[in-house]
Amino acid sequence: MTPAELSPAEAVNEFFDEAAELIRLKDEFYEVLKTSYREISVQVPIRMDDGSERVFRGYRVQHNGARGPYKGGVRYHSQADLNEVRALASLMTWKCALMDIPFGGAKGGVMVDPLGMSPREVEAITRRYTLAISYLLGVQRDIPAPDVNTNAQTMAWMMDAYSGRYGYTPAIVTGKPVDLGGAPGREQATGRGVVYVLESAAKRSGMDLGSATVAIQGFGNVGSWAARDLADLDVKVVAVSDVNGGIYRDAGLDVRVLVETVQGGRSVVDLAGTDGIDAISNEELLTCRCDVLIPAALGEVLHNENAGDVQASIVVEAANHPTTPEGDKILNERGIQVIPDVLANGGGVTGSYFEWAMNIQQFRWKEDRFNEELRDVMSRSFDQTAAFAEGRGVPMRRAAFAIGIERVARAARLRGYV
Ligand code: NAD
Repeated sequence: MTPAELSPAEAVNEFFDEAAELIRLKDEFYEVLKTSYREISVQVPIRMDDGSERVFRGYRVQHNGARGPYKGGVRYHSQADLNEVRALASLMTWKCALMDIPFGGAKGGVMVDPLGMSPREVEAITRRYTLAISYLLGVQRDIPAPDVNTNAQTMAWMMDAYSGRYGYTPAIVTGKPVDLGGAPGREQATGRGVVYVLESAAKRSGMDLGSATVAIQGFGNVGSWAARDLADLDVKVVAVSDVNGGIYRDAGLDVRVLVETVQGGRSVVDLAGTDGIDAISNEELLTCRCDVLIPAALGEVLHNENAGDVQASIVVEAANHPTTPEGDKILNERGIQVIPDVLANGGGVTGSYFEWAMNIQQFRWKEDRFNEELRDVMSRSFDQTAAFAEGRGVPMRRAAFAIGIERVARAARLRGYV
């Protein structure tokens, strides 16, 4: 982000304002819909392996619960400050409404870089943080899920910490291991949903995905599953990256080898120099030669300084808030189609909804059913957003926010908040 640009929370509210204006949202809704319902900041003190004591800062922001219990991931990252968590909580509100699932929006974060920490230290952080925010959680109140640097194991510790205080409660988190009540398909759901949305976009625009090339920034949960599903469709993935940097191969990368490399605890960068694979930086990946760009790592990576150099014709926002408002304007002006985060990565929370519903019913679906329902939600949400955007002559982000805001405003009115 450059100094001239907005903070994440200001940026999300700018997207809100543009959409709210489009649907002529009444003034009385603005305050309720633009601010968080509740924000909590907690101390997370733990004993490190070397015997020292460290105190981290954790947050949980509940943005809007008009349509149902609060729902949102937990992120461990040194930049996960209150402003970022607030922005991500707001995005969850619009995303859940756009997907038409019965949740409000929330987000959690601990300001910590867990890379290089031992599993015991990360477990200690998770248990402390969970207990510190446990008063705000509940199966019908607020249900966390994994996000950056958290995963199924983190959710298992969260569930165990919560259950130790309140009794066995598998539905308190989603994205759990299947052995603890997780849903087969949830781990893949965000990346898979990204691909479903891309397929819908290609169908609508007449693009031949079979001859397209794709670059993916980030090779964690979301990026790697999107890559695997693209490879299954014989779509060429030419570039990927992780925190250490990126790689590029004109003729396409072997996704199976990438996955094995990362699962073996190495970086994708370790493959550079083999089999015609070039090393590139994360910055170069965003502007490399490709038809589809999928940012699937952190926020604010596309901005006023590099949006003009993007070569892709479609950007599918698998990451949350990867594009700043100024970057977004440049991409729109250049005619690059941006499938916004609240739509593109909505498969994650949709899969979480299935898992939560299964836990409450104490019944497990087969993975085929999970994927079928996921595809239905993703393609319906894409078609609704695309039709709105085309009908009103606006970019898809504005259409997606507009649909979400209308739904939340209706619920808020019906419940008597406004
Ligand atoms: P993850 O921790 O599994 O993976 C993150 C990936 O990004 C890793 O490959 C990491 O090496 C890479 N990375 C980290 N810092 C980077 C940097 N500075 N430059 C480039 N790459 C970097 O996280 P994830 O769950 O895959 O989440 C990725 C994005 O998708 C986030 O924006 C998250 O909010 C969003 N998202 C995740 C889910 C989900 O279900 N996990 C759902 C919706 C949205």
